[in-house]
Amino acid sequence: MALDTTGTGTVTQNWQQRYRPLVDRYGRVHTNLRISVTDRCNIRCFYCMPAENVVFRPREEILTFEEITRFVRVVAQLGVNKLRLTGGEPLVRQGVHELVAMLVEVPGVEEVAMTTNGVLLGRWAQALKQAGLTRLNISLDALDRETFRQITRRDCFDQVIEGIQAAQAAGFERIKINAVAIRGITEGQLERFGHLARSTNLEVRFIEYMPLDAENHWERSRVLPGEEIRRLLEQRFGPLVPLPRPDPSQPARDFIFADGRGRIGFINPVSEPFCHECNRLRLTAEGQVRNCLFSLREWDARALLRRGASEEKIAQLVWECVSEKLPGHGIDDPKFVRPQRAMYQIGG
Ligand code: SAM
Ligand code: SF4
Repeated sequence: MALDTTGTGTVTQNWQQRYRPLVDRYGRVHTNLRISVTDRCNIRCFYCMPAENVVFRPREEILTFEEITRFVRVVAQLGVNKLRLTGGEPLVRQGVHELVAMLVEVPGVEEVAMTTNGVLLGRWAQALKQAGLTRLNISLDALDRETFRQITRRDCFDQVIEGIQAAQAAGFERIKINAVAIRGITEGQLERFGHLARSTNLEVRFIEYMPLDAENHWERSRVLPGEEIRRLLEQRFGPLVPLPRPDPSQPARDFIFADGRGRIGFINPVSEPFCHECNRLRLTAEGQVRNCLFSLREWDARALLRRGASEEKIAQLVWECVSEKLPGHGIDDPKFVRPQRAMYQIGG
């Protein structure tokens, strides 16, 4: 029997007993949270960050590891079971492996993954593995030093390659290499990417360029659709055969070359939006909850966390955020308004 602590004579259920999963108006069940741990980065990809004069959030605005973990403890009770740490560059946040160790302990959390540019992986891969990180996606858009430098405005290609090797040596399996596909750049990289996928157990995935760059230079003409990349790869390496999708909410369509060598994935948010299957929520580095990359609204979890609000209050905020989720990102809508914030400020 629950105790009456309300002074009203009515016995209240505790809120977990009224547990409601994070289902939105369109029936999408949200089980996946992307957590940005910083807006800082050690490189400057042109499709994400400005070249210079980047203004980062002051340290005190960024959630502490304890605050992130408390938020996760709440959403895990609402059915969130997969986490992905991102940023900015997650590995520039000091001690991020300690956060991993805290998150893997949260009841209900089944997977803690990370998306990184790989520059610092040589130093941290082993510690991340030991902390319990389950999976790694490493972003790498070009396989030659000069093109890498043009895209990232930094000269770190060798460090990323060393980082990938360190991740393999640390025992990470099925590492994914994410490449943003940009017309005029990526076509010249396909031969190398095809060979990489076919000669290693790295899975190469192409992500269509989205209008989330800080300098607002995105143009539709620079999007290289996944379907076009597939045709170009097939002309060179032979047919790509679709692989089964164990998780229907996964955005990537995965293929394998017909001779069994080389896995390639396509994430096509622009040419083939997958919003109807989206099960993701986002927590920005300064503690704002978002229901979409392209959302124009955010819900302030940090204010609640810092005010010592109850778990129920935090859960209500997340429910409200989910209930306001739109059916799609609307990039093709003539009235589309892109968010003020760029990818590094949201958490890709
Ligand atoms: N710094 C880490 C990295 O680059 O992997 C994590 C954060 S980054 C914002 C996450 C992912 O978003 C990366 O794979 C990156 O390539 C991708 N990304 C960034 N800006 C993008 C854009 N405008 N369109 C498509 N993907 C983008
Ligand atoms: Fe940094 Fe990642 Fe953005 Fe590139 S995509 S600038 S690595 S946050």
